[in-house]
Parts: sequence; structure tokens; C-alpha cells
Amino acid sequence: MSDPNSPDVAIIGGGPAGSTAAAMLAMAGRRVTLLEKSAHPRFHIGESLLPRNLDILERLGVLEEVRGIGVHKPGAEFVSDRTGRSAAFPFAKALNRSRTHAWQVKRSEFDTLLFANARRRGATMLENTRVTDIRFGAVGERPTVLARDAAGAVLELRPRYLLDASGRDTFLAGRMRVKDSNKYNNTAATYAHFRGVERRGGELDGYISIHLAEDGWFWLIPLPGDIMSIGFVGNQSAWKGRKGSAAELFLARIAGSPTVAARSRGAEIVSEVYSTGNYSYRARQGHGDGYLMIGDAYGFVDPMFSTGVLMAMTSGELGAAAADAWLDDPARGRRLAARTNRELARSMERISWLIYRVNDPVMRSLFMAPRNTLWMRDGIINMLAGNLYGELRAIVPVLAFKTVYQVLSALHRMGLGPAMPEAMPAAPLGAAAAE
Ligand SMILES: Cc1cc2nc3c(=O)[nH]c(=O)nc-3n(C[C@H](O)[C@H](O)[C@H](O)COP(=O)(O)OP(=O)(O)OC[C@H]3O[C@@H](n4cnc5c(N)ncnc54)[C@H](O)[C@@H]3O)c2cc1C
Repeated sequence: MSDPNSPDVAIIGGGPAGSTAAAMLAMAGRRVTLLEKSAHPRFHIGESLLPRNLDILERLGVLEEVRGIGVHKPGAEFVSDRTGRSAAFPFAKALNRSRTHAWQVKRSEFDTLLFANARRRGATMLENTRVTDIRFGAVGERPTVLARDAAGAVLELRPRYLLDASGRDTFLAGRMRVKDSNKYNNTAATYAHFRGVERRGGELDGYISIHLAEDGWFWLIPLPGDIMSIGFVGNQSAWKGRKGSAAELFLARIAGSPTVAARSRGAEIVSEVYSTGNYSYRARQGHGDGYLMIGDAYGFVDPMFSTGVLMAMTSGELGAAAADAWLDDPARGRRLAARTNRELARSMERISWLIYRVNDPVMRSLFMAPRNTLWMRDGIINMLAGNLYGELRAIVPVLAFKTVYQVLSALHRMGLGPAMPEAMPAAPLGAAAAE
């Protein structure tokens, strides 16, 4: 009989990364125990999925279940507070058209579904069980994982391999002091669920809306049951010197954005108001002898392009393959662990190039008037659909977009080049809408 306290793999955290890895390992016939400190269903942010997510959901066997809890999402829309204009990016125009939609989900339901799926596949899934300590022994020795359940009982596991999927708690990276915060993306977010917010109709039905405000941006994500998730992400100056409760500050931000205020007139808040600070980071050392960090436990980038869940599930799948390989052949497992971190790091870098520049008037002008010369627009949509893994066909369009941006930026700095609507003084909404 196998000892339940000595599984092949232990996983810290039952979010998308951990539950994906647990299901994949169980499907590969491995004995896996996942420890989750909370109990599902629980609130979590990260509600807008990307088309590339659908492949993983299919491999997990939960595609139809997720369809049943999601709002169909055929694209992303950017709305300018300066001009009141909207630019649509339909996924059907991406270079890779194998998936032309995604879904938007309440994470409480989505995470419960992924967690239950891993249990159904044979993983041991423990809730209300917080990992409190990890002790690594000599090379080749099993680590000791200490955890505490809701009743205070201590659990001691001796897995052969450990996956850290503890999300922004960054359990291992924090303890090992290998977490590097990104000084170029030091933002904070405030968010809540609302009822009665105006939803987009017609071709934009189901789109996520990204509203570009003066000193940050809003997301408006339509969820089932007339719920709209609204969040504001701003850098430190957007919050500095402002007084009041989180809810008061958030409502003031909404009132200060003409385009978001127009859509949320008469709406009511139906959740707590949440805040998250100190944004992007990455672990310098994300794997080692017998362990690997996946999902947000390894790294996180600003959520403007809704990439977090996709990256978490991608690294959950790659991480499961690395753990599975390590159990039979540690050298191969180490190579796959390095690849898991590398893929995630590269995806984060690719999307960060856009994120760092999103408050720049030249970048905003390009986004608000997308052109398809050299497939630039389709190349950007390709990234927005979650194709972050260096596809050959995307090289020319993305390079063309970056070159156009650099040239226009240089001209803009010299006071030359075309007029940029996003660099003009803000117009009153009424005037813009009437244009
Ligand atoms: C403001 C904001 C908006 C976002 N919007 C989007 C979006 O629209 N789309 C998108 O794709 N992504 C979005 N994201 C990113 C997304 O939330 C994350 O990338 C995603 O949830 C990562 O999944 P994960 O499994 O790595 O971590 P998580 O989902 O955070 O799961 C980690 C789990 O580990 C558990 N845990 C932590 N510590 C311990 C411990 N010691 N012991 C046991 N369990 C533990 C936690 O309880 C949690 O359940 C957003 C993020 C933020 C901050």
C-alpha cells in the first residue's frame, strides 16, 4: 500500500495553475496531493479568459462545463476617455484563427470547476489546509511539506516533487528571497462587482472593455447574471494624496472617467471593494532540485491583456510534464522545469512591451486607430488572443508595429509627425460623442 503522506507530487495552491497541474499529473497516473488554504467557492480576480485557454480546457476535459458558466467573449474593445471613441479587436481577425472566442467567468465558479475536475481525475485535493513550511534536505532527498488544517491539525507530507502554485502569495519565492519586483510596473488595482452597468450590444456583445483613463485604465468585464466586473489600475500617482475608504476612492475614480461613468450610471455595487498593490514581479530562480514554481507563484504581469489565467494554466500543464519527467529521469525533469520557467518568462516579456507603453500617447493613438498594413492589427489581435509563444507568422506584423511605434515616438518627441488624438487636451465627453 502506498503511503498517502508520501505522494509523488505535492502542490501548494488550488487556483488554475495548481488544479491544472494536479489533473494532468493524475491523468498521467501519478499520486498527487494538492493543499489549498481556502475552500472553494471563493472570490478571486482574473475573470476574462483568452482564446488560447480553450485548448487547455479541452485537454482537461472541461470545455463544455466552462461554456456553461461563461459569457461568450469574441474580442476586446479599447475606449478612450479623451475622445470617447472605441476601437474593436475581434479575435476572429487574429493571425491564428483556430479559436476565435473565449469566455468570461466568475472565478469562484471557474476555480471550483477546475478543482473538482482534478479530484475527479484522481488527485487528492485538500481544502482549508495551509502550507506553513517547506524543508529541503540533501540533494536527492524528499522535501518535507508542513501544513495546518482548519482544526489546527498539522500535516506532514514527504513528496518526491513539489510544485508551488500559491499565486501572488509566492510561498517559495518569498521564503527563498528570489522574488524581483518590476520597477517599471508599480501599479495598484481596485475592483468590485456591479449590477446594472450598461452592457455592449450588437457586434461588441460580450467584449471586454478596456477604458483608457488619464492616469490608468479600467476593465469592464461582463459576467453572467447582469454582473459587471469593474476594476481600475493606476500607478502610484493615481492614488497619491487621496483620502477616503477603498469604496469611496473607487467610486470617485469611476465618476472621474467620463466613459465609465456614462456606462455605470444607476448601477449598484454587489460585492466588497478589493484592492491589490505592487504589481509585476518574477522569481530569479523558479526551479531547483525537486521543486518548480508555476503560475503567479513564479511571476505576474499587469492584467491589462487578461493573460494571467492562460499563463497559469500553461505553466500548470508544462509544470506537470516536468514533474512527471523528473520522477523517472531527474535530468530530463530539470530541463523541462527550466523550459517551463523560460516559456513563462518569455510570454511575460512579450506582453510587457505593450503594457509598459500603454499610457504613452503614441501607443494609445496606435491602439485607438489600428491599421492592418503588414498585418499589424491582426498581429496585435493575435497577442490579445493569447498567442504569446513566439509564432513565426507573428514576427513580421509585431516587428512592423514596434517599428511604426518607435518612428512615430521619435517624430512626436521632435514635435513632428501626424497629430495624435491621445496627446490632445481631453475633450468633454458630450463633444466627443457628438463627432
Ligand atoms: C487586479 C487583477 C486583475 C486580473 N485580471 C485578469 C483577467 O481578467 N484575466 C486573467 O486571465 N487574469 C487576470 N488576472 C491574473 C489572475 O488573477 C492570475 O494570473 C491567476 O489567478 C493565477 O492563477 P494561479 O493558479 O497561479 O494563482 P491563484 O489563482 O492566485 O491561486 C493560488 C491559490 O493558492 C492558494 N494558496 C496560497 N498560499 C497558500 C498556502 N500557503 N497554502 C495553501 N494554499 C495556498 C490560494 O488560496 C489560491 O487559491 C488579474 C490579476 C489581478 C491582480
